[in-house]
Amino acid sequence: MAVLSVIKAIAKGLALTAKHIPQDRITIQYPDEPVLIERRFRGLHILNLDENGKEKCVGCYLCAIACPADAIYIEAAEDPRPYEERIGVDRRYAKVYNIDYGKCIFCGYCEEACPEDAITMGPDFELAWERREDMILTKDKLLASNRKISPRLKLIP
Ligand code: SF4
Ligand code: SF4
Repeated sequence: MAVLSVIKAIAKGLALTAKHIPQDRITIQYPDEPVLIERRFRGLHILNLDENGKEKCVGCYLCAIACPADAIYIEAAEDPRPYEERIGVDRRYAKVYNIDYGKCIFCGYCEEACPEDAITMGPDFELAWERREDMILTKDKLLASNRKISPRLKLIP
């Protein structure tokens, strides 16, 4: 009887495998084929700009406070020039904005805490560095204007 039940279990397993053979393959030949990324994916952060190219961040520190990994470092400053001339949407802006990817756990709390939609999580997942110090990305690397989406990924519409 025991042998019979083993044969039955094997037949059941083989039938299940056979059922999937005619179906479309789901393996993606990365990096030769682009990887499909959901829009809610939490990858490398983006520091956003408004429609006039001004930095949205107002240096309020809420993202840094919300970060459970202490991965965000900000130095805020004042830019009293009129809107047309200054770099940010507000007088106050982040002079320094660093994210340490050696600490970040990609939880998205910073994105949720931001009242200005200034920091969001982008689709980039190709994160690899050879040196510890390279894992700290500065504002110029995070700004939306300096970011290029990898040709090896495609956003799901
Ligand atoms: S994703 Fe999470 S861990 Fe990473 S910087 Fe934002 S709050 Fe910190
Ligand atoms: S990214 Fe948002 S939460 Fe963080 S300092 Fe700038 S405005 Fe404040």
